[in-house]
Amino acid sequence: MSNDGRRKFLKGIGLGSLVMSVGSYGVVANKPTTDKKSKHYAMIFDQNKCVGCTDCEIACAKVNKVPKGQFRMIIEDKTDPKKPRERRMVRVSCQQCVEAPCVQVCPSKACHRDNLTNIVTMNADDCIGCLYCIVACPYNVRFVNEETHAAENCNFCENTNLKEGKDPACIEACKYEAIVFGDLNDEKSKINRILKIKDSLRMKPELGTKPSLRYIPAVRLGV
Ligand code: SF4
Ligand code: SF4
Ligand code: SF4
Repeated sequence: MSNDGRRKFLKGIGLGSLVMSVGSYGVVANKPTTDKKSKHYAMIFDQNKCVGCTDCEIACAKVNKVPKGQFRMIIEDKTDPKKPRERRMVRVSCQQCVEAPCVQVCPSKACHRDNLTNIVTMNADDCIGCLYCIVACPYNVRFVNEETHAAENCNFCENTNLKEGKDPACIEACKYEAIVFGDLNDEKSKINRILKIKDSLRMKPELGTKPSLRYIPAVRLGV
């Protein structure tokens, strides 16, 4: 993403607060829900693997037809300039909260949770443009699509790649396997295997929103 594009995105949806809040990660135990009737799609972003190439951003915008200059996700480079060898990338996108304030406040139910996949998603035709969901999101990651005039978020490519039986576009595009996607209700899924052996973090766990997006923090190896 160009610097101009990134600035426009950050300004447009006010992501600064989320980026600054990365320090408030909290370690969580891996306790996937066990309801077998539906899926519970979730995602892991591994800071140890992401190199900041931004291929995922480009693929997401293309597949989901996000207007030029707007993005459902970005990768922020939070590397300390004094420690350039300690790369630290942060995925900024909808956290796919289990307790989602955006869903709770939407008067038209345009912003809703899909009951088969547990994905927080949108029905653009029902959006009345009240912006309640955008105000309610504590992660500041919702935005109004300039073409559809409806609020939207990363919905794990529910209406595009997922519908076609493919992985989300960001995962398809990542050559470094920095993103993992899967069903927490499937005990044998890759995402559950990874969560069983690695500590993961959630953004702002103190809010009780229970994000389904997890972060594996960068591990610094001494020499
Ligand atoms: S494509 Fe993969 S490595 Fe590149 S920025 Fe996205 S997550 Fe990071
Ligand atoms: S991160 Fe924001 S937009 Fe996404 S589910 Fe949570 S409250 Fe809704
Ligand atoms: S899951 Fe889909 S909508 Fe979400 S960031 Fe990845 S490509 Fe974009």
